[in-house]
Amino acid sequence: MDLNQLEEQLARIKAEAEALRQEADGIDALRSAETRLTKGPLADVLKSIKAFPPDQRGPAGQAINKTKQEIKQLFADAQSRLRQADVVGEQKKTATFDPTLPPPITQRGSLHPVTAVQREVERLFRGLGFAVVGGPEMETDFYNFEALNIPEMHPARDAQDTFWLTNGWLLRTHTSPCQVRAMERFGPPIRVIAPGRCFRYEAIDASHENTFFQLEGLLIDKDISIAHLIAFMKLLLREVFGRDVKVRLRPGFFPFVEPGFELDMSCMICDGVGCATCKKSGWVEILPCGMVHPNVLRYGKIDPHEYTGFAFGLGLTRLAMMKYGIADIRILNSGDLRGLAKADRLSGATI
Ligand SMILES: [Zn+2]
Repeated sequence: MDLNQLEEQLARIKAEAEALRQEADGIDALRSAETRLTKGPLADVLKSIKAFPPDQRGPAGQAINKTKQEIKQLFADAQSRLRQADVVGEQKKTATFDPTLPPPITQRGSLHPVTAVQREVERLFRGLGFAVVGGPEMETDFYNFEALNIPEMHPARDAQDTFWLTNGWLLRTHTSPCQVRAMERFGPPIRVIAPGRCFRYEAIDASHENTFFQLEGLLIDKDISIAHLIAFMKLLLREVFGRDVKVRLRPGFFPFVEPGFELDMSCMICDGVGCATCKKSGWVEILPCGMVHPNVLRYGKIDPHEYTGFAFGLGLTRLAMMKYGIADIRILNSGDLRGLAKADRLSGATI
């Protein structure tokens, strides 16, 4: 063996040491790998010194000792790194809650804009002595149309195409079925509101959805007139918007009221200038209303000669859009939280 061969052998031993260090999964494994190297290959090369010519034995011994020191250092460093990691791991395990740290950033849930508006209107009407009632979303033809003075073949049905179920029932097109159900259940005098989900077979655009929310209102008593109706509607809009809202009342045809009105409010998205939400008109239909038709009272087993009343169908979804400045109705059913963020902040209603 000459010095060059010795250098090559030492380089191989060093490479083996490096490989063993990487394989070792703990301090014990490191120790035994180091022992194996020093007692095995390193001891062997040390013995081979005798075979060198006397003048080369010095440099050979120095080279072997240098490698031995490097390997020792290599394993010592690896052991100290492992010990350090153990200490940190132990600290993590025993770490306790630190109240001085800032809290993690979490998203808070909040009420859906429609729910927020619904609760507001419910609060208002409860204060006026109204009961809040519900009704089924699956309705019979009788409650959704027939009892509301919309007999079969009546053209008003065309405007309210809906989803029919195989059992002959349908998904209600408005909350108005709750009127007749309330009359049957309570009898006069009646003051109820009925919020709920409605469905129509609609082409969907910025202001039309197949699923939307209405809030039905019904007041039946003796000597109720249009003046009462208008007073209630104005109060409702003033309370919801926190200020007087520009409205217009125009005649509207709904078979279950007579006379019937369409109450429009000035579009809050464009301030009445005209936009996609208000179909460029500057006005938004928000509140069809009117005096309950005598036929509907009869269906509800109430004598129209003794009692009169008014009814309205507030578009809760539209109201939420106007209140929170949501220009596209599709956002409300989309589940897109970015679209709802605006309303979340304004409603201030958190769960
Ligand atoms: Zn508009």
